[in-house]
Amino acid sequence: MERVNVLIAGGGVIGSALACCLAKRGVADIRVVDLDLAGIYASSAPNACGARATWWQPINIETCSATLDFFRAHRDVFAFDEVGYLWLYDDPFLYARARERIAVQEQAGLGVSLWTPEEVAHRVPLIDRRLDELVGATWSPHDGLVNPNAVCRYFRSEAEALGVVFSNRHYVDGVVTERVPGLTGLRRIRAVDVVEVDGADAADESGLLREILTTHRVASERILRETRVSCEVVLNCLGAWSPIFSAKIGVSDVSEAVRRQICLVDVREEDLADGVDLGSLGMIVDASDLYFHPEAGRLLAGYAIPDEAPGFDFEYDGEAYFEEIVWPRLAYRCSSFERGKHVRGWSGLHAVTPDRSGIAGLVPGLANLFEAHSFTGRGVMQSFGVASALSERIVEGRYGACDLSPLSRDRFEDRDRWVCEALHI
Ligand SMILES: Cc1cc2nc3c(=O)[nH]c(=O)nc-3n(C[C@H](O)[C@H](O)[C@H](O)COP(=O)(O)OP(=O)(O)OC[C@H]3O[C@@H](n4cnc5c(N)ncnc54)[C@H](O)[C@@H]3O)c2cc1C
Repeated sequence: MERVNVLIAGGGVIGSALACCLAKRGVADIRVVDLDLAGIYASSAPNACGARATWWQPINIETCSATLDFFRAHRDVFAFDEVGYLWLYDDPFLYARARERIAVQEQAGLGVSLWTPEEVAHRVPLIDRRLDELVGATWSPHDGLVNPNAVCRYFRSEAEALGVVFSNRHYVDGVVTERVPGLTGLRRIRAVDVVEVDGADAADESGLLREILTTHRVASERILRETRVSCEVVLNCLGAWSPIFSAKIGVSDVSEAVRRQICLVDVREEDLADGVDLGSLGMIVDASDLYFHPEAGRLLAGYAIPDEAPGFDFEYDGEAYFEEIVWPRLAYRCSSFERGKHVRGWSGLHAVTPDRSGIAGLVPGLANLFEAHSFTGRGVMQSFGVASALSERIVEGRYGACDLSPLSRDRFEDRDRWVCEALHI
């Protein structure tokens, strides 16, 4: 049997951030286990690059603010661009609720302001259609865009420099638990079963990684080596796959994997309306829930199809996604996008909870299992804030300045404790 001090299951942005923060707190002998560190199917890679602290729930504001401060401090490394978020509303009820939340956002110094439709037209000439249907907008100038791959790379290289081992092509296959003597009902994880997978190619052309991440098992002929790793502390950072791990220890999870798609759109300079400079825009969230921002000379646009069935679905709907879902909403609001062309797109998984907030903390009933996952559409912008708070909890035995208790999983037993987040896209 191998031995490590801390085993982190999942090396996406959250697992990597935790590895980095724990190592910086002096924790030695940490191993991160991931089937696919390149993240072909991980949620961290297909990300829409949004980074904002403007949320409704104080804990989401606090952890995202901490992450954005961290991005600001390493602006060049993460390509963090403070270009703001403009959120358009056509529903008076939703806009009234957004206005109510400004007081909470102001306590965190986010500097959110309200714009009338006239101000929207004046300040953002791109928005030139059906302004009469809008009731207002919120503008948060300190939010922006970030490179999620750079964020993940940074956490990993900092962690590796401090001795953390990242094991690629290693799949967490099983968990061995034992009772904690003298404490009725309390268990601990004694060891984690890890299998090394044979035959996966870098771009997964054989489909092996996809098969494993969809069926949640490794065929016996693909197992190169099986290892039982004993550990003092385990972290479940498996993103959309966290419930699969939880089920292995008899913990039922509330989050579900749900597909999200994004596409790139070509917009020609000559099709832009007068006064429109695409490059100067930040993230715009239309009243239709379509969101978009400039991306390397093009437009990145996404829309979450309501009632998308949960599942490990990685298909991108291609031209149909653009033609039927994205383009009509773009052209409805902006004449500049009337002739926009689909370039390509991709899909990834959101791990969605019933209240749309993430799950973080010690898993009740397990003495040495911590978790941080299911951050819906905010894992990158919440990564540093959550990882620094949770690493403090793990090392010091209690939370410090940032208390993640509102995000513990036992909140789902009592609806009054749900952390209902409405500003997700
Ligand atoms: C289309 C899209 C757009 C998004 N846009 C944004 C955005 O603009 N801003 C933002 O902040 N967030 C955004 N998100 C959400 C954000 O990307 C995620 O919340 C975040 O990446 C989750 O990170 P994670 O580390 O929890 O999970 P992941 O990155 O999915 O990492 C989990 C890892 O676990 C591995 N794994 C799974 N099962 C096993 C196993 N049994 N053994 C070993 N390894 C395993 C996987 O290979 C994977 O690498 C978006 C997500 C999607 C899909």
